[in-house]
Amino acid sequence: MSETKYGKNIIIGIPDKIKEQTAMSQETQGEGSSKMVVYTDGEYNPGVNFVTAGWVLKESVNSMIHDHSHDEYLGLFGSDTDHPEELCGEIEITLGDEKHTITKSCVIFIPAGVSHGAIKNKKVDKPIFYFATTPTPSFSKENEVLSQD
Ligand SMILES: [Zn+2]
Repeated sequence: MSETKYGKNIIIGIPDKIKEQTAMSQETQGEGSSKMVVYTDGEYNPGVNFVTAGWVLKESVNSMIHDHSHDEYLGLFGSDTDHPEELCGEIEITLGDEKHTITKSCVIFIPAGVSHGAIKNKKVDKPIFYFATTPTPSFSKENEVLSQD
């Protein structure tokens, strides 16, 4: 097999360790509630930053609230291509001491140090595409779980 300079930058799939962790979280959040498509970070792909993406398929709750010392982007997009601005559901997210209800496709910028999480997928009419990324190689190592909502 020939090696290319940038072929490793095309990220496909999920490392086995992350698949196991995802399976465990599905046990608490509900079987089949979401489906991760891509995950990587600097541990699995040296030189790249953390990114993950996938689909929210059913109502579910991830009650973990955490913060970290770096910024994060969280993208949420509905799958109705006739109305791409619509989320096709309702997601509640905690940002600092505020709860926000999301019903439109959006990107959420989470500044470093702001607690966030407790993502409640309250209504899922059609699959909702999500992605999250940070400008750092690691997502989990710097995370500090603050509480459960
Ligand atoms: Zn975070």
